[in-house]
Amino acid sequence: MLTIEIVFALLFGLALGSFLNVCISRLPRHQSIVQPPSHCPRCSARIAARDNIPLVSFLLLRGRCRNCHKRIAWRYPFVEAAVAALTVGNILFAGPNLEGVAYTILCAVLLALAVCDAETMQLPDTLTLPLLGLGILYRASDGFVGESHRGAAYAWHSALLLGLRGAISAAATALALLLLRWLYSLVRHRQGIGLGDVKLAAAIAAWLGARQMCVVFFLAVVTGALTALAVLAVRGRKTAKSEGPLAVPFGTFLALAGIYCAFLGGPTLQWYLSFFP
Ligand SMILES: [Zn+2]
Repeated sequence: MLTIEIVFALLFGLALGSFLNVCISRLPRHQSIVQPPSHCPRCSARIAARDNIPLVSFLLLRGRCRNCHKRIAWRYPFVEAAVAALTVGNILFAGPNLEGVAYTILCAVLLALAVCDAETMQLPDTLTLPLLGLGILYRASDGFVGESHRGAAYAWHSALLLGLRGAISAAATALALLLLRWLYSLVRHRQGIGLGDVKLAAAIAAWLGARQMCVVFFLAVVTGALTALAVLAVRGRKTAKSEGPLAVPFGTFLALAGIYCAFLGGPTLQWYLSFFP
C-alpha cells in the first residue's frame, strides 16, 4: 500500500544522513558545510560523486578511501543507515504527511547532535537553535492545519496559541536546566550541564511539550548515569584516578531520549501516570 512512500522515505533518509555526516564533521569546528567539497579526512583527496553514494559506496569500497586506502569511520554508514531507518519509521508511524516529515527532521537532527556530542563534547548552535525555531513553527503550523476546517480566523488563533505554548515550554525548560546547572556548580565546583545541553533541551521541549520533556530528562539522566557507571567499572579505579573525572556527553543521552519520546513519549507518560489514579 505504502510501498512507493517507503522507498522514497528510504532514499530521502539516506541522502539526509549523508548530509548530516558533513554537518557532524564540520559544524563543531565552525567550518562551512558547502566549501570545500567532500574530501577524505585523512588524505584530503576529493571524493568523486560515484564514491559518495550513501551506504552503497562504503560497501563497494569495503570501508576504505579509494585514494589512501585508510579506513573510513564507521560513523558514516551508521548515521546514513540510522537516519534512513528513522525516516521510514516516522513515515510508517505518522504517515506521509506534515507530521511524518516534521518528526523525521526532528529525529535526524537529534541523531546528528547525539553523535556530535559523543565525538567532540559539543552541541553546535547551528543545529540546536534552528531545531528550537522549527519546533515552535511546527507546533504553530500543526495548530493551523488542525483548525483550518473552522475558517481562517480560528486557524490563525490556534496557530498563535500552540506556537506560544511551544515557546513557553522551551523557555521553562531552559530556566529549569539553568537553575540545575547553577546548583550543580555550587555543590560540585565544576560544570555538569553545558549551555549546549540547555539549548538542546529547550528545542526538544518546543517540539514535544514540557510534560514529555520531563520523561526525556528522566531517561537521559538514568541512561547517562548507567553508562557512566559501566565505563567506570571497565576503566577500573586506578586509571580513573589518573585520568580525572569521567566526562559524560549528556547531550547524547538527551538527544537519544528525545528520539525515543518522539515515537513513544505519549504512551510512556500515560503508562507512568497510570500509577497515580
Ligand atoms: Zn584518503
